[in-house]
Amino acid sequence: MGDGTVFTPDIGFVRGLKEAGADTMKQCYQCATCSTVCDLTPSDNPFPRKEMIMAQWGLKDELAADPDIWLCHNCNDCSKYCPRGARPGDVLSVLRKAVIAENAVPRFMGTIVGNTKLLIVALLIPIVLFLCVLKNTGHLNIPEGDVVFSKFFPISYVDSIFVPLAGLVVLLFAVSVKRFWGKLNVNPYKLMAYSMLLPSLFETLKEIFIHKKFEKCDANKDRAWAHRLVMFGFIGLFIQTNWAVFNIYVLKWDSPYLKEDPNILLLLGSHGLVWLYYATFKLFGNASALLLLIGSLLVFANRMKDKGVNSVSSSFDWVFATMVFLVCITGILAEFLRFANNAQLAYPMYFVHLVCVFYIIAYLPYSKLAHMVYRTTAILYAKMAKRDVM
Ligand code: SF4
Ligand code: SF4
Repeated sequence: MGDGTVFTPDIGFVRGLKEAGADTMKQCYQCATCSTVCDLTPSDNPFPRKEMIMAQWGLKDELAADPDIWLCHNCNDCSKYCPRGARPGDVLSVLRKAVIAENAVPRFMGTIVGNTKLLIVALLIPIVLFLCVLKNTGHLNIPEGDVVFSKFFPISYVDSIFVPLAGLVVLLFAVSVKRFWGKLNVNPYKLMAYSMLLPSLFETLKEIFIHKKFEKCDANKDRAWAHRLVMFGFIGLFIQTNWAVFNIYVLKWDSPYLKEDPNILLLLGSHGLVWLYYATFKLFGNASALLLLIGSLLVFANRMKDKGVNSVSSSFDWVFATMVFLVCITGILAEFLRFANNAQLAYPMYFVHLVCVFYIIAYLPYSKLAHMVYRTTAILYAKMAKRDVM
């Protein structure tokens, strides 16, 4: 008898996958139709057929080291043609979620964010934190006079919460991604040299930026624009946030009185240019928020249209889409209510907006948004290992 490979199935892992929505995987009988119709899979050792059997067998470690589950863009062409209704596209989606939870640092955060029944816990953390800060600093009331958000929640308090939070998130996320990369780098496509890093990184970013692979989708092609708008909206708001930090800490802009600020006037030389600078800053932020809002609405529309036909949306995905929508809508409403000088509604709306922003930032390494980073990492890896050559 020849040497065989001994696999150790993780039964708990299989049970977890089924509970997370991959229960259809047991219907797969390995006909390989899915791998044949998938336009994104390499021809050598194609996905998702092999991932279906790996999932059925509970090969958790092998799946954690498999870059292919991230080369899939969840178009669900394979699910459309699967003769057994095994929904391989959705199974891969559940596998990606499991990999994120598995690499989460600390692990319990992955469990909290991954389990929608614990959503209330995830939301209570910022609510209690903000209420404590406002109570202990005597700001737990509606300020008198014109609506100015910094009178209610001073910028120094916001920054002392969000700046360390963002730093911690980046650190924890980096540890998770390093752990993920380490697992990828023991698979059959093990990297031998890092000389391809820069050209592969350039190709990866270009591909993500233009969403090239979405164009190959058939059943779910219109998801491309929803994803693009959400991505551009987030990038725009990230730039806007850093621009605001520059205005406040470098230009010493004491919001909202930029127009009279002597530092800005000195820098730009005329009231006209100051106004232009101010208008550009505001317009850029509002345009980014609008892109995110339209993108999140398109995500909703696509998910409702596809439901039961091309993809089964998990509650995990719905929570994320809802939080993105809430960040946008509460931010826009807070701005309108501030213009309307309606203090009774503007300040509570601003509070809710900050809770949503906290949710998106603090749980970034464990949420659906983490896909963006994991997918980028896996595509980069696959290109360097010459696994992804499209
Ligand atoms: S998932 Fe469906 S199409 Fe793919 S191998 Fe299994 S039965 Fe065939
Ligand atoms: S969902 Fe689309 S990209 Fe993913 S395996 Fe199926 S056909 Fe391929």
